[in-house]
Amino acid sequence: MTAAFTATQDVGNFIDGAPISLAANRKQAVYNPATGAVARQVVLSSAEEVNDAVKSARRAFPTWADMPPIRRARIMNKFLALMNEHTDALAAMITAEHGKVFSDAQGEVARGIDIIEFACGIPQLLKGDYTDQVSTGIDNWTMRQPLGVVAGITPFNFPVMVPCWMFPVAIAAGNCFILKPSERDPSPSLFMADLLMQAGLPKGVFNVVQGDKLAVDTLLQHPGVSAVSFVGSTPIAHYVHQQGSQYGKRVQALGGAKNHMVVMPDADLDQAVDALIGAGYGSAGERCMAISVAVLVGDVGDKIVPMLAERVKKLKILNGMESAAEMGPVVTKQALERIEGYIGIGVEEGAKLVVDGRGVKIAGHEDGFFTGGTLFDNVTTEMKIYKEEIFGPVLSCVRVADFAEALQIINDHEFGNGVSCYTRDGNVAREFSRRVQVGMVGINVPIPVPMAWHGFGGWKRSLFGDMHAYGEEGVRFYTKQKSIMQRWPESTAQGAEFAMPVSK
Ligand code: NAD
Repeated sequence: MTAAFTATQDVGNFIDGAPISLAANRKQAVYNPATGAVARQVVLSSAEEVNDAVKSARRAFPTWADMPPIRRARIMNKFLALMNEHTDALAAMITAEHGKVFSDAQGEVARGIDIIEFACGIPQLLKGDYTDQVSTGIDNWTMRQPLGVVAGITPFNFPVMVPCWMFPVAIAAGNCFILKPSERDPSPSLFMADLLMQAGLPKGVFNVVQGDKLAVDTLLQHPGVSAVSFVGSTPIAHYVHQQGSQYGKRVQALGGAKNHMVVMPDADLDQAVDALIGAGYGSAGERCMAISVAVLVGDVGDKIVPMLAERVKKLKILNGMESAAEMGPVVTKQALERIEGYIGIGVEEGAKLVVDGRGVKIAGHEDGFFTGGTLFDNVTTEMKIYKEEIFGPVLSCVRVADFAEALQIINDHEFGNGVSCYTRDGNVAREFSRRVQVGMVGINVPIPVPMAWHGFGGWKRSLFGDMHAYGEEGVRFYTKQKSIMQRWPESTAQGAEFAMPVSK
């Protein structure tokens, strides 16, 4: 394969080392959001097809788990080279099905590649610990072993990066992986599966099942699946965590967000405006780390809202493949209706609509799923547009009296994914980082997505489960610890011991 998709091709599964097209399946349309046209169809797998993937992965597991980690790392290393070679093909695929601008899609692929690079260090990451002589003639050590077959269920907004949060680490650690991508932008999953084969991955180690709730439920209930990583909206994350746990699986389920950015009166306002525009409207607000609430402290609101309004009105909204584009379309017509519906609710709730992005039409792309940038001022914490995740290019400004009030409203919010504070005061920055009840914190950084070796995860209803994605937490998630105690006694037997062994 390796060629980019064709306009007519159905997107099928990838099982046991080969793409599988399933002519008779249920299917769902995949759109080009910039034109609004159906680009291709994705198959929606049956339970039987999911079972085939699990069978293939289970067959592959013993040999793969037994392969020395350094040899698994060498395959990852070849995959890394191929991903670097094909970054632009993958980015174009993302833009074609998701809508985000091409440079942003390139950035997404680059951040996915970071995790592959991290996974190439798996021999070091799996290294256990060892104590010589815990008792006379006895040594004790710990090692980490793979879980078996693990599944990843991923959202539409990062069709390359979020799968890369999961499968490189899982596979390098010796597991076999089944990816269930979003049905809205499924093509990059097959492209990556093909690159993994080219890198020399044995068949069955990485499988893709396309599908909807039926495929997800089959994976959650399947006795052959040991762990599930999920990223998506909070209601589904909660459901996946509960169901997977009930069926005895290890589960990490990352959910939705409402990320605040505090602007203190001493902040550099030009920098803060740049940050709010990029983090609020980049990727049309369809990022789990997008800033959707600006918390304006003291007199900042009067100064900054007009500056923001001017910039929002001038956003260059175009087909994401055009080099001048700053913001592309949103992913589907339903997403467009949901976002514009929220804008109507905000007006009814009494928020001040400073810039209205509804009804934007882009010349030559009249049927595309475009909405403009929207800016609200005087949003209060009781409003639905404040409480709920809109997941679109809508920035809500909340005015507060002081730092304490800013911190309080953030800590009272049900989500706790990302947060940012713009200030020149080191003490404010330090207090903010220590006291805020949010998993990922930026100080004068608007989107603090942690690097590959630090791990990604929110708090509160932004993550269900114990461990964050990737980094050392990811290695722990995809492995179980074993402790081994060893003695090689001299040839004479010493008799049974009935008391709890203690160090002698
Ligand atoms: P979604 O929850 O609709 O879908 C995510 C996955 O779940 C998809 O693979 C989908 O097929 C599956 N799914 C959907 N409905 C299901 C159901 N009823 N039962 C079982 N499975 C189901 O999310 P989305 O719209 O694709 O993505 C956007 C959401 O993801 C936003 O809420 C965003 O904040 C969140 N997100 C979070 C993070 C994070 O790291 N916390 C990262 C990216 C996206």
